[in-house]
Amino acid sequence: MRRKLAAGNWKMNGTPAELAQLNALITAHPTPNVDVLICPPSTLVAQAADIFAAFPLAIGGQDCHTAKSGAHTGDISADMLAAAGATYVLTGHSERRTDHGETDAVIASKSTAAYDANLTAIICIGETLDEREGGTTLDVLDAQLAGSIPDTATAANTVVAYEPVWAIGTGKVPTLDQIAEVHAHIRARLTARFTDGDGFRILYGGSVKGSNAADIFAVVDVDGALVGGASLTAADFSPIITALE
Ligand code: PEP
Repeated sequence: MRRKLAAGNWKMNGTPAELAQLNALITAHPTPNVDVLICPPSTLVAQAADIFAAFPLAIGGQDCHTAKSGAHTGDISADMLAAAGATYVLTGHSERRTDHGETDAVIASKSTAAYDANLTAIICIGETLDEREGGTTLDVLDAQLAGSIPDTATAANTVVAYEPVWAIGTGKVPTLDQIAEVHAHIRARLTARFTDGDGFRILYGGSVKGSNAADIFAVVDVDGALVGGASLTAADFSPIITALE
């Protein structure tokens, strides 16, 4: 049985004042029966982890370097995130792929760094609008799955997030049939490649809100969501958690 996961990605948003949202989340969901994760900017990871410490809610990083330490100005390592109290890290978010030119090979290497630091990697994949309209979605995802997920991935150390690039922050959401087709495809690829492929959680991400979450979560092989904008406040994120519970 795969445990559901509601993951929030704050992206480049949040100062210490916004940590009050975590206390509000605790008040609303002190002992959720699904996994709840917030990935704040790295400046807030340690403080956020302290706030969640006494509760079954998790903190993650939004990215990590491939190396453990060294001359990489501005970067953060998986070991540093773990030491700050993170238990998850996003790898391969489309904004990292686009803004920083991250390739599948780099993402696989970052995911391996996450495993080495005992972090669970949430490996993000997804097609662009051109790829969707050109009919190559499943081919694109196959290449990303093959290239971004290390051979050492397991259901325990890896979550796959399907995030169509055209649905992120746009208010556009694929049809439920499109989500079902992709998640079934990802599941088939995972079970073909990994002995525990049926245990990997597959999240949907892209304009998830309280109003559409229940329908999306009813789709087979959707094990939760990776949420951007609607994770920034407890008022918006809480209904998504409730829909998953
Ligand atoms: C994301 O950043 O991963 C995301 C899904 O964003 P949004 O929910 O805002 O579309």
